[in-house]
Amino acid sequence: MKKHAIAIHGGAGTILRALMTPEKEAQYKQGLQNALLAGNQILSKGGSSLDAVEAAVISLENFPLFNAGKGAVFTNKGTHEMDASIMEGKNQEAGAVSGVSNVQNPIHLAKVIMQKSGHVFLQGADAELFARNMNLPFQNNDYFYTAERYKQWQDVKDTDGYQLDHTVLETGEKKFGTVGAVALDIHGNLAAATSTGGMTNKRFGRVGDSPIIGAGTYANNNTCAISCTGHGEYFMRAVVAYDISCLMEYKGYSLQQACNYVVKDKLVKMGGEGGLIGMDAQGNIELCFNSEGMYRGILRQGEEVYLGIYE
Ligand code: ASP
Repeated sequence: MKKHAIAIHGGAGTILRALMTPEKEAQYKQGLQNALLAGNQILSKGGSSLDAVEAAVISLENFPLFNAGKGAVFTNKGTHEMDASIMEGKNQEAGAVSGVSNVQNPIHLAKVIMQKSGHVFLQGADAELFARNMNLPFQNNDYFYTAERYKQWQDVKDTDGYQLDHTVLETGEKKFGTVGAVALDIHGNLAAATSTGGMTNKRFGRVGDSPIIGAGTYANNNTCAISCTGHGEYFMRAVVAYDISCLMEYKGYSLQQACNYVVKDKLVKMGGEGGLIGMDAQGNIELCFNSEGMYRGILRQGEEVYLGIYE
């Protein structure tokens, strides 16, 4: 039996201590801790890494400070269009969804797509129809509204600009929030999950890396489980999550070597800001980012919770 472990992120970007109040910091840490405990509860009972990453991400989706589920950013139309994906390392089964509104937990929908649709990736209104057919919980628009996200949208809504949750505003304000989890269960199986509202003021059905298997999410028991956060356009072009797995599989890199190369060298040269969490089949964990900070946490079997925000 393997020792189980789970790691999570709540987005990477420019996180300045000067702009963080002790109350806000405590709230973020509470959100991270809740998610680790939700995943750990499943792992400690011998449950699967798949169920654990789903539970951790649902906890983060339900927590309004993160840009996923409740608290997702506003699109240019004033709606919330959410993306999510999940993958099992055992057999590379995967499920993904993009551009859905009113679905309470997009990561749960991604898992149901994986298990019940016969497909990997569903999108938009028809993905919502599938979710209704599967009796998944929906919420009205008010549920997804948060005053902070509304204000972020008001600042850019009359421009052509869109804003990554990581964008540094003129006011110095910084915004973060895509969420993800990776886990190893006692059976030796890895899994990864990622969920996001994408970019504030996004238009034309913009989709980032988060729901794209191989870009924002990947899992393979022979290599690693990865969940990314950052400027999705770059993460898609660099096929970040799969690239790390490939470096381990084909070049024999360790998880640490692969993460450092992709995040701190390759992405930096391309101009792609962000980070990721990774775990290998031995339970080694990497929390790697090229931005100023990343909301992150780890809970290993029999150890204390680790939480981090800044470098
Ligand atoms: N990667 C996400 C996207 O581009 C954003 C984020 O990580 O905050 O949609």
